Amino acid sequence: MDCRFEDRVKELIAQLARERQAELAEAGTLLDLETLAVQIGDMVSRELTQMEVARRADALDEAEARCPDCGRMCPRGEREPVILNGLRGELTYSQPKYDCRHCRRSFFPGGRYQRRDYFGEKNRPPGRKHWREDKVGCLLSMTGPSYESDPVPKLPEWLKVSSAIQ
Ligand SMILES: [Zn+2]
Repeated sequence: MDCRFEDRVKELIAQLARERQAELAEAGTLLDLETLAVQIGDMVSRELTQMEVARRADALDEAEARCPDCGRMCPRGEREPVILNGLRGELTYSQPKYDCRHCRRSFFPGGRYQRRDYFGEKNRPPGRKHWREDKVGCLLSMTGPSYESDPVPKLPEWLKVSSAIQ
């Protein structure tokens, strides 16, 4: 980063410090002061990241987009809210969604898509939703033989809890 940018960051930090002077003055220990600084830094980091992901989503927003399956041009639907768990907290924005009536699916430029399984079917299996998405997550239930040569023959305990997934 160049000196001008560094100077600009220092100006912004000085402005934030003036706005939070009372809280900074109340921080009794170095740990209190650093904890407050980290909270402010996380807020800055989260806001900067959220602005950029929203800008990228907006850049993909066109009236129509080409279906990645059939190649037909498809109209834009309503924007889809997105919540991401970032390193510094939750990021929320919305991204453009397009609907292909021919393939009966929705897709999102940039990779994500939804598929309408069981869409409009009256005898949908119990517990089955008609929306399916990729690149959101995948949970598999698998069984199979274990071998002595397996580096980890049994599922580690730490992977059996939902908190292992972020
Ligand atoms: Zn299509």
